[in-house]
Amino acid sequence: MTQPIDLRSDTVTLPGAAMRRAMAEAEVGDDQYGEDPSVNRLQDEVAALLGTEAALFLPTGTMANQVALRTLTRPGDDVLVPHDSHLVLHETGAGAANAGVQFSPIGSGGRYSADDVRAAVKPRDHIVLPPTTLLVAENTHNRAGGIVLDQPEVEATLEVAREQGLRAYLDGARLLNAAVASERPAAELARGFDLVSLSLSKGLGAPAGSLLAGSREHIGHAHRYRRMAGGAMRQAGVLAAAGSYALAHHVDRLLDDHANARLLATELLRGDDVELDLETVQTNIVIFGLVDRRGVPDAATFVDRCRERGVLLNQFGPRTVRAVTHLDVDDEGCRTAARVMRAVADGR
Ligand SMILES: *Cc1c(COP(=O)(O)O)cnc(C)c1O
Repeated sequence: MTQPIDLRSDTVTLPGAAMRRAMAEAEVGDDQYGEDPSVNRLQDEVAALLGTEAALFLPTGTMANQVALRTLTRPGDDVLVPHDSHLVLHETGAGAANAGVQFSPIGSGGRYSADDVRAAVKPRDHIVLPPTTLLVAENTHNRAGGIVLDQPEVEATLEVAREQGLRAYLDGARLLNAAVASERPAAELARGFDLVSLSLSKGLGAPAGSLLAGSREHIGHAHRYRRMAGGAMRQAGVLAAAGSYALAHHVDRLLDDHANARLLATELLRGDDVELDLETVQTNIVIFGLVDRRGVPDAATFVDRCRERGVLLNQFGPRTVRAVTHLDVDDEGCRTAARVMRAVADGR
């Protein structure tokens, strides 16, 4: 059988020959002594890219999120998050277990306004209310379909956060998708947040690794919480070198993934079995619904049948499916996948 077309996630990419060469040739040392030159270089590169004083390499984006929560909150704090955020839905309850915070979702569709923030902030020193101490944004927003946040709106919400004495965290696992899609420098999207994460193992195509970027002081504390989480590595330069390679070679090409997602969405909409808001297809994620009508399968059946025909997808709800484009699938692959998906949606 030919290779399946894997659209489950942009995490499924495999390191290519040149990236593997960079990993094999990486200069390494013990990173817990700060002696891994490849890790140090990557941290400097990401701090420069995001316009911060410092950055810290971590094994995963989930750990980056968890370490950020530990760094910026105290147990019992209230954290404002967008609806359907990774922090709440995709981390097996880690925020409650590790940082001991509670989450208050605000806004809709991955966005919220300055008024939403103002209305949701609970005062400090109140005898019953939990103190709101942190505002979180997710850019791009995964479950909202990879949408790019409106930057003036983000800035307005950060203004309220400052006014109210909240800290701000940007879950930027796919921040570079947002940067290339909006033609804004990543540092502009990161400005005003206390900590910002960035994932190397999503669309950038590295096998592992995320970074947290922020002030020297916050990164100093994050360093300790990374160790606490068991995420302090040793000769991690073999991974960091893959990350530096990805930053040098795989950023501009994210635009190809975005064009392919658009292509996939447009092809899917040629049938009438799929519901999809093209407005949400701004980067590399396509979330679509299967019309609730006789003959149109539910999402679980749809995903199974597509798999039998060599197209891998993720179920996101009873009638909702997610497809993600990435560097290991080209436009021809997306056309083929769309053909299979339309046939399956149509009960053929
Ligand atoms: C994937 C993702 C993460 C976590 O990354 P892992 O490396 O899979 O732990 C965090 N936030 C968002 C928005 C993501 O999409």
